[in-house]
Amino acid sequence: MISFSNTYATLPSAFFSPISDKNSFRPDLIVFNHSLASELGIDLNELSDKKLAEYFSATDFMPGTGPVAMAYAGHQFGHFVPQLGDGRAMLLGEFLDKNCVRYDVHLKGSGRTFYSRRGDGRSAIGPVLREFLLSESMQALGIPTTRSLCAVRTGEMVQREEMLPGAVLTRLARAHIRVGTFQFFAAKGDVENLNILTKYSIERLYPELKETEDSVFKFWHAVCSRQVKLISQWMSVGFIHGVMNTDNMSVSGETIDYGPCAFMDQFTFNKVFSSIDQNGRYSYGNQLQIAVWNFARLAECLIPLMGEDEEKSKERLEAELSVFQETMMKEYFTIMSKKLGIEFNVETVKSWNVFLERHQLDFTLSYIDLERILGNKKTFTDLETLEGFREFSAQWKESLKDDSIALMKKCNPQTIPRNHMVEKVIRAAEAGDDQPFIIMVENIKKPFERLNDLTPYQLPPRAEETVHRTFCGT
Ligand code: AMP
Ligand code: MG
Repeated sequence: MISFSNTYATLPSAFFSPISDKNSFRPDLIVFNHSLASELGIDLNELSDKKLAEYFSATDFMPGTGPVAMAYAGHQFGHFVPQLGDGRAMLLGEFLDKNCVRYDVHLKGSGRTFYSRRGDGRSAIGPVLREFLLSESMQALGIPTTRSLCAVRTGEMVQREEMLPGAVLTRLARAHIRVGTFQFFAAKGDVENLNILTKYSIERLYPELKETEDSVFKFWHAVCSRQVKLISQWMSVGFIHGVMNTDNMSVSGETIDYGPCAFMDQFTFNKVFSSIDQNGRYSYGNQLQIAVWNFARLAECLIPLMGEDEEKSKERLEAELSVFQETMMKEYFTIMSKKLGIEFNVETVKSWNVFLERHQLDFTLSYIDLERILGNKKTFTDLETLEGFREFSAQWKESLKDDSIALMKKCNPQTIPRNHMVEKVIRAAEAGDDQPFIIMVENIKKPFERLNDLTPYQLPPRAEETVHRTFCGT
């Protein structure tokens, strides 16, 4: 059993809305992530698949569970919505892992809550499997993320553009506290709860800042620093989150709320997949800029907690935001230089990006090919024959070091969850066959492994397989 010890539910009642009703599904287990459970020291081995499916679809509650739907607000595509909240999710409770790290156990697709607005509180199977695959890939890539513990079919159909099988995802997070959680209280002018939330977040996620002088500013700074690192890491693997609204940005620095997200195949700096992102606000290349926009929204919330002189706090935050503009570019070029096996070099990274985009090359395999060129191996693509390669190569080779190949091996995955494969396994599951999904989960576990023959999971899509649009599906 999970030994629950719930702290969020002890906060004032404005933070959440309790849930008491169980679902009346006949759930069916799709997958339970046993290796994650043992990694964290959760022992559920004695439970049958049936019982796991019940517990992780809120059809039954494990002893100690204290389910609540969490309140938050958020800027959605730049427009402020004062009340969002868990409309199709619930926080079952929290536990401490082997190392005393606190985790939330959260269900997604588990039914209507106080915050559902016009939604049905359900999730179709597609978004559940997409989040499972992408979050577990992210983990394998070494990038901070919420984890996927379990996926369950509900046995019910949900109405989307068509009728689709319903499912519930169980995800674990260091916390589900969003920039939007702060906005929820700030918008009401509720400084008391804002203060409680900030103290709680520091205690739980940044304990080293507890009782330090100027801790609110330091907290804000630490959140932004984690995000800059995180988003640079996304960029380094071609990940596009797709909906970087303030309610989908966690103060824990984990990737959260996988919606219409995707890893890009061909490199386009301003690539957008999401069908709802019509102006490219959350395009690949805009993600760091948007992060800084979100940092400003968090800063606005925290000003009342930063001392008497609000004008002074504002000036200080504005100055720090411009520093973040620089830090972010530095972080991006650092990580992208490493992928090329070289020291920090803005010009070479830029030349490479121009070359990739000009020929619409596959982002992932092109880096692998550079490494193969250095190792005198046959390349997977024909990049060496393309116009501009010789010039780029001359520039690049000037900066190479003795350990370039080793560095590239560490930074460049050969396996990413290819969008067309994700869609393929989702289509199979919609038609009742979960096996391709199960196989794909296994195939994404060793992204840095080098194979001389590409597997179907590693191959870029053929033209007719290419997925151009992704959907929230909510
Ligand atoms: P997202 O941008 O997908 O993270 O969701 C934005 C908001 O819409 C959150 O408050 C969700 O809880 C809510 N939402 C999304 N889908 C549903 C649904 N099917 N039923 C109820 N609320 C939903
Ligand atoms: Mg969300």
